[in-house]
Amino acid sequence: LALVRVPELRALVEDTRDATAEIQLPNGPRALIRAARTYGRAGCVLLLEDVTTMRRLETVRRDFVANVSHELRTPVAVIRANAETLIAGAANDPPLARQLIDGLHRNAARLARILADLLDLSRLDAGQYRLELAPVSVKSVTEQSLTAVETPALARGVAVEVAVPGELLVRADAKALDQILVNLIDNAVKYTRAEGHVWVEARAVGDAVRIEVRDDGPGIADKHRERVFERFYRADPSRSREAGGTGLGLSIVKHLVESMGGEVGVEPNAPRGSIFWLRLPE
Ligand code: ADP
Repeated sequence: LALVRVPELRALVEDTRDATAEIQLPNGPRALIRAARTYGRAGCVLLLEDVTTMRRLETVRRDFVANVSHELRTPVAVIRANAETLIAGAANDPPLARQLIDGLHRNAARLARILADLLDLSRLDAGQYRLELAPVSVKSVTEQSLTAVETPALARGVAVEVAVPGELLVRADAKALDQILVNLIDNAVKYTRAEGHVWVEARAVGDAVRIEVRDDGPGIADKHRERVFERFYRADPSRSREAGGTGLGLSIVKHLVESMGGEVGVEPNAPRGSIFWLRLPE
């Protein structure tokens, strides 16, 4: 008590009954403390349990549920409002009906994307996302990933240049690597300026392979850069939603890369834009 000058702790010791309290110790952990007097009047047994990590995880979980609910609310509200307007008679007004049905379709697709990402994350968390590691050609996976971003790149007039040597191999799961590259290249195309550029490059570095996806867009401010791999974190929320983003792509990328024994990060590109890089073992 002389050492830990916390009034709640003193109260617990001085209380004549058995008691429990959760106390934030100064410069220390958050502790769940049980005081028991079973051992006679003269003293008291204190059991201190460090619950810092548990409480932090509970907060993460609560925030996650709040974020998911928030993300689902907008598309669900649009689907509901459009359906109600159609039922109320708009179905007889073809131009308006067409517009409402487009809205239904867009928002249903958005819900499907969010759910697919959430499912991937929960499978990754539970260790149920089966990864089969084998030597994989970086070039052939990159070529496959590019087919998924051709349409959005064309729509925004973004030129994608690829420089990947044909002989580069990584130890990876081909499907996971494709998912990673599609996410990174799609982001680069989505967030760079219209008529901008995206470069996909790979090279051997020691006994690993470094793959880079660069763009010459607005880049990411320092204060956001650290956090873009967090679930639902967005540097520019309105831009992300407008572009159909779920805010989950990079957290899935990080999870997948680390599950394959690799590393992923982001740096500013000179003179502008971002470099998303990953290192995978050869
Ligand atoms: P989203 O679905 O919003 O794209 P991500 O997890 O893929 O979610 O990315 C998180 C955030 O990181 C994005 O909302 C965006 O603000 C930022 N971001 C990702 N890639 C880039 C990039 N190439 N240039 C600028 N910002 C980016």
